[in-house]
Amino acid sequence: MIHATGLVKKYGDFVAVDHIDLHVEPGLVYGFLGPNGAGKTTTIKMLVGMMQPTEGSVLIDGLDLAKDRDRAKARMGFIPDRPYIYERLTGMEFMHFIGGLFRMDGADIKKHGHDLLALFEIAHVENELVSGYSHGMRQRLIMASALLHRPRLLVVDEPMVGLDPRGAKLVKKIFREQARLGTTIFMSTHTLQVAEEICDRISIINTGKIIATGTVAELKASAGALERFEETFLQLTGAGDEQDVSVIFES
Ligand code: ATP
Repeated sequence: MIHATGLVKKYGDFVAVDHIDLHVEPGLVYGFLGPNGAGKTTTIKMLVGMMQPTEGSVLIDGLDLAKDRDRAKARMGFIPDRPYIYERLTGMEFMHFIGGLFRMDGADIKKHGHDLLALFEIAHVENELVSGYSHGMRQRLIMASALLHRPRLLVVDEPMVGLDPRGAKLVKKIFREQARLGTTIFMSTHTLQVAEEICDRISIINTGKIIATGTVAELKASAGALERFEETFLQLTGAGDEQDVSVIFES
C-alpha cells in the first residue's frame, strides 16, 4: 500500500529524513515511532503528498505520488497532528464540505457521514456548530471525515493526543476494525502502549533514519528480549541512560 524508497528531506543543509525505505502491506495497522524531532511528521508529509521529497519516491497503492498525485491522494485519508476545522459549520456540514472535495454524491455523504459520526459517537451533535465541540469531539469529527470517502489508506499523525480514555479506546477499536475490513492504517504515535496494543508492525525512526522494523515481539527480541516495550524503545533510540534529575533540583 505504501512503498517509499530512498526518501530524503533536507531543510537547507539539515537532513531531517535520511534515505528511508518504508514498505507497508495492505490491511495492516502500521506504527511509526521515534523521539521528538526524529523526522516522523516530515516523513508523513512526504507520504501524503504535502511535501516534496528532496530525493526518493513514494508509491501509494501502486500510484507514483510525483506523477499521479490526485489519484493517489484520492485513495488516502490524512489526519494531521494539528488539523484545521471550520468552526462555523455544523458537524454534518463539515462532512458535506469534505465529501464535496472528493466529489461524493450528496445522499451518500449524508448516509455514510451520519454512520461515521455515529461510529465515533458524535452523531447526536451532527447538527450543532463545531465551535461548541470539545477538543476530543473535534478530533473525532476529523477522523470521521477522513474516512468519509472510503480511503484504502488512512495516515494519522498522533491520533491519541487530547482524547480521553474512552475516546482513545474507541479509536483503537475503530482502527483495528478498519484494518480488518482492508483499510491500511499508518500512524505515528508517542503512546507506546497504543502502538503495542494495536500495531501489526512498527518502524522506529531516529535522527532521520529507520533504525528498526518489525512486530513488537521482534523489536523486543532485537533489543535483547526486554519485557516492556518502553525499555525496548528507549534502548533502540539510545535514550536508555536516564539523566540524574537530582543534579537539576539540588543545584
Ligand atoms: P515530534 O515528535 O517532536 O513531532 P517529528 O519526529 O515529527 O517530531 P519532524 O517535525 O519531522 O520530527 O522534524 C524533524 C527535524 O526537522 C527536526 O529537527 C525539526 O526541527 C526539523 N524541521 C522540521 N520542519 C522544519 C522546517 N520547516 N525547517 C527547518 N527544520 C525543520
